Amino acid sequence: MTELSISDGSVIRPIGYAESCWRTTGEVPLGGQAAVVHIMPEYQPALSRIGDNSHLWILSWFGQSERSLLEVVPSKVNPDLPKRGVFGLRSAVRPNPIALTLVKLEKVAGCDLYVGGFDAVDGTPVLDIKPYFESDIVFSPKTPYLPPREYQNREMMFRKQALAHHCESCLGLELGVKMALVVEAHFGQIQSPELKLTVEGDACLADVLQGLTRARLANPARFTYLSNQRCKAVRWTKAGESLVLSVRPGVDINTVTGLTHEELFDIERF
Ligand SMILES: [Zn+2]
Repeated sequence: MTELSISDGSVIRPIGYAESCWRTTGEVPLGGQAAVVHIMPEYQPALSRIGDNSHLWILSWFGQSERSLLEVVPSKVNPDLPKRGVFGLRSAVRPNPIALTLVKLEKVAGCDLYVGGFDAVDGTPVLDIKPYFESDIVFSPKTPYLPPREYQNREMMFRKQALAHHCESCLGLELGVKMALVVEAHFGQIQSPELKLTVEGDACLADVLQGLTRARLANPARFTYLSNQRCKAVRWTKAGESLVLSVRPGVDINTVTGLTHEELFDIERF
């Protein structure tokens, strides 16, 4: 495998490479997908007990990338967004195309790591692997609002975040994802400090919406939960305007994904 020379004479030797279904960066779907990281046998001791981790940071070398641009539009996310400096983006375009990807470790087999959410093309040199620790978690970070343009990408993004927070696929998760899409279309960014919500219903829906909105019970108080096994309704409020979404009777885990927003929810505005 090729060494990477640094201008002071140092070299970086890749520790492995990615096996994925994509040949070019343009083919890689937003958020990546399943892939295998093959680690060279001489580095196998460095994998000792790596299976204790559910998530890993992978540093890799995106050698196909453009290296001369310092500002780009994150066009894979949304080509309508304005340009931003590459140090504020995860774009592969940058002076040194060192990629940083958080992946889910699914399985370890010898020197092979089976991972989910990797966005590297086939054959990408892997430079390093580090664990994702509890201390990495920032519950309420300030980040720019870069909503994907396509509906299915916004839905995928919310479902990925909801699953990371709630850790199971269930009716509450699907309802929370669909509701977040309706509310984002109406009020904009759902993590906005001005957006408050009161969830009445089951704990799964409440938990998913707390994860997606980052709304806390206090400091500032944006989130209220009222347990109710008979109905599911959420009141969303921003700048004196309210939107109440009530889940229609009869919606269940088998029908939820195929229904339109209007079939899923009664929507009232105040
Ligand atoms: Zn659940």
